[in-house]
Amino acid sequence: MSLDSFIRTIPDHPKPGIQFRDITTLLLDPEGLRLAVDGIADRHRHDRHDRHDRSGGLGLVVGIEARGFIFGTAIAYQLGLGFVPLRKPGKLPGETIGRDFDLEYGSDRIELHVGAIAPGQKVLLVDDLIATGGTAEAAVLLLREAQAEIVECAFVIALPDLGGVKRLEQLDCKVHSLCEFAGD
Ligand code: AMP
Repeated sequence: MSLDSFIRTIPDHPKPGIQFRDITTLLLDPEGLRLAVDGIADRHRHDRHDRHDRSGGLGLVVGIEARGFIFGTAIAYQLGLGFVPLRKPGKLPGETIGRDFDLEYGSDRIELHVGAIAPGQKVLLVDDLIATGGTAEAAVLLLREAQAEIVECAFVIALPDLGGVKRLEQLDCKVHSLCEFAGD
C-alpha cells in the first residue's frame, strides 16, 4: 500500500473549507508508521554523524510540536541520533530563544533550548505536514539563529498549492515530503 492511502481526509475540519489530512490512521497501522518513519530515515542513513571519524555528518533530528515529535523522535532513534524539540511558548524549562510567526488568525511562537544545538551542527528538521510554511519557516529561522546547519526539511505530507514548499526553497532549504495532496 502506498503511504498516502494510510492518511484519512476529513472535510471541513477544523472549519469549513479545510481538508484535514489526518495522520492518526497512519499511526494506527504498523505498516503506515513504518513507511513514514523509514521513508525519511532511509534518506539520511548515509549522512549520519560518525562519532569515530568526526566527519561532521548529520548530528541531530529536530521536531516541531506536536506532530513533528511523533515522527522526529522515531527517525532520530532509527538513525542513532539525539532529538531536539521545538516547543510552544513557556514549555521548555531552561533558557530559550524563540521566534514569533503569523497564523491565518493570530500568531504563534516556537522556542528552542539555548545550547541544545552546537554552532555548525548539522540537523534534520521534521514535521508531519507543510501547508503555508509559516511554522516551518519560523523553525528554519530559529535554527539558523542557533547557527545550526539544516541538511533538509522533511515532511510526511506536503500541500504544495498552499505555497509552503516554495517558501522554504526561497530560504535555500532542501525540502522533501513523502506524499503530496493537491489543493488545500
Ligand atoms: P503551516 O504553518 O500552514 O505550514 O501549517 C503547519 C502545521 O499545521 C502542520 O504542522 C500541520 O500539523 C497543521 N496543518 C495545516 N494544514 C493542515 C491540514 N490541511 N491538515 C492537517 N494538518 C494541517
